[in-house]
Amino acid sequence: MTDSCLFCRIVRKEIPSRIVHENEEAVVFEDIHPQAPFHVLIVPRRHIESLSDMKAQDADLIGRLVWTAQKIAQEKGIASDGYRVVINSGTAGGQTVLHLHLHLLGGRQMAWPPG
Ligand code: AMP
Ligand code: ZN
Repeated sequence: MTDSCLFCRIVRKEIPSRIVHENEEAVVFEDIHPQAPFHVLIVPRRHIESLSDMKAQDADLIGRLVWTAQKIAQEKGIASDGYRVVINSGTAGGQTVLHLHLHLLGGRQMAWPPG
């Protein structure tokens, strides 16, 4: 955890968010600027800056975060139509908050390629 990181502060509940799910290693909350009718962020409690900072020992954690995305999609009713899971990494990848997170988006038809 870091004192100044926005998502660490949300995980610690120092900053309010609309939490939809929590478990021992992740917090899932609504994105403040949703890009789809359903848009949540799956955020590990542990501060990892980006996918590029992931270590071999983090591979299981990332797998469980993706598994959490699948479970949330099922629970929230977006799985049958389909959904998207995104990890932006680094500047050119479009990452703006430097604490690893997965976007889970659904409820509309997605376009490809992304902008
Ligand atoms: P990224 O660009 O992949 O780093 O995604 C960061 C996401 O965090 C963006 O989609 C923002 O809308 C979202 N965001 C920023 N601040 C907050 C906040 N306080 N609560 C919830 N989502 C946020
Ligand atoms: Zn953090």
